[in-house]
Amino acid sequence: MDERESDKLEERSDNLLISRRDLLRLGLAGGVACLSGACWAWLFGSEAITDATKDNPGVFKKGAPDDRTFEAWRQRGWVREGMHYRKDGSTVQCSICPNRCVLEPGDRSHCRTRINRDGTLFTLAYSNPCSFHVDPVEKKPLFHFLPGTRTFSLAIAGCVLRCMNCQNWEISQKRPEDTKKAEGPEIRMRPGAPPPASLDDLARLTMTPEDVVALAKATSSPSISYTYSEPIAWYEFTYDTAKKAREAGLKNILVTSGYIRTEPLREVARYIDAAHVDLKGFDEATYMKLNAGHLQPVLDAIRTLRDQGVWVEVINLIVPTYTDNLLTIRRMCEWLAREVDPNVPLHFSRFHPAHRLTHLPPTPIGTLERARGEARAAGLRFVYIGNVTGISDAGTTFCPNCHKAVIERDVFAVTTMRLRDGRCEFCQTPIPGVWKA
Ligand code: SF4
Repeated sequence: MDERESDKLEERSDNLLISRRDLLRLGLAGGVACLSGACWAWLFGSEAITDATKDNPGVFKKGAPDDRTFEAWRQRGWVREGMHYRKDGSTVQCSICPNRCVLEPGDRSHCRTRINRDGTLFTLAYSNPCSFHVDPVEKKPLFHFLPGTRTFSLAIAGCVLRCMNCQNWEISQKRPEDTKKAEGPEIRMRPGAPPPASLDDLARLTMTPEDVVALAKATSSPSISYTYSEPIAWYEFTYDTAKKAREAGLKNILVTSGYIRTEPLREVARYIDAAHVDLKGFDEATYMKLNAGHLQPVLDAIRTLRDQGVWVEVINLIVPTYTDNLLTIRRMCEWLAREVDPNVPLHFSRFHPAHRLTHLPPTPIGTLERARGEARAAGLRFVYIGNVTGISDAGTTFCPNCHKAVIERDVFAVTTMRLRDGRCEFCQTPIPGVWKA
């Protein structure tokens, strides 16, 4: 299994596991906001706005919350002015992801988190996570980054894509107001404070960037993961939290589709230590059909992250009839080996029926094994299979020199570690990765 299967709400002994499904069952609606604190606008004066609307049918015309809701969210601190946007009169254009939403006053963005209110772009996704857990870092999945450690993981509703197979669509394809409400007393999650006592409490929960850092430390998590939905959709909160975490000596992990433009990615990557990028296929037509996005920006993002010194691992979900063509998989692996690095870990993940593809069967085990063979033949040295049981070495790291197993895993747990100072214990070959906090 990988984190795609993590969407059941659970209670954990540390009381830090919040069930997003439970929150969603509440059928919450609301809205709030506040423009207090730092203003992060990247305004470009009266520069002309690029015509992106023809590629961006996902904007919700007149989808912004009403005045009462907006004011309630503003007062709760769940609103910030957006980063990376342009303004032309009362029209705004977000420049964070390739969708480049053009919003007239009262409109809501494709990712559902941003609105144009009186000519200013605001995000409604700030300090209001709908889900948070303390996870093993292997669950992201990241296999070459601080193995065996915990990572404080959180999400806010929203996504820049529309994947038909999304396992977390109940938060990714929702507005922040669908998962939170600003009525009633505020609940603040900080170390030492009593955990939320009810689902209603969870919906009213505020968790600032400072709170996230403190909670990560209190739970002995050396890293924070921005995950479950799409952190690009809540870019400002990711940026502010990652910056504070870096100052506090914590690592930051971006679990992302990589559907982001280069400039905002460079901006946030300064504070990101590891990224898990979901390369959903290697065919433009399929990317459009399955994910409502384009392939090239994701390839660019993988290279940008590497150029910025971020540790990158790639996941590829093999969806029957969509992304299971072995020739295409081979081309993807050859591109990774040639244009990125043969040492970049690649995780093939098994599809399970979900969201709009419940009529498809799970990926056959044989397809996953053949894909792994293609990846190895293309020159990739660290290839894994996730979301599956019954393949004994699916999560095993093999030394590329002596071919012995140096890290063995059982689902998300490291069971054998034969690395010493990042080197194979048998032949001393360095194994690429980040092995110490
Ligand atoms: S981040 Fe959201 S608002 Fe900005 S361009 Fe992408 S989908 Fe549109």
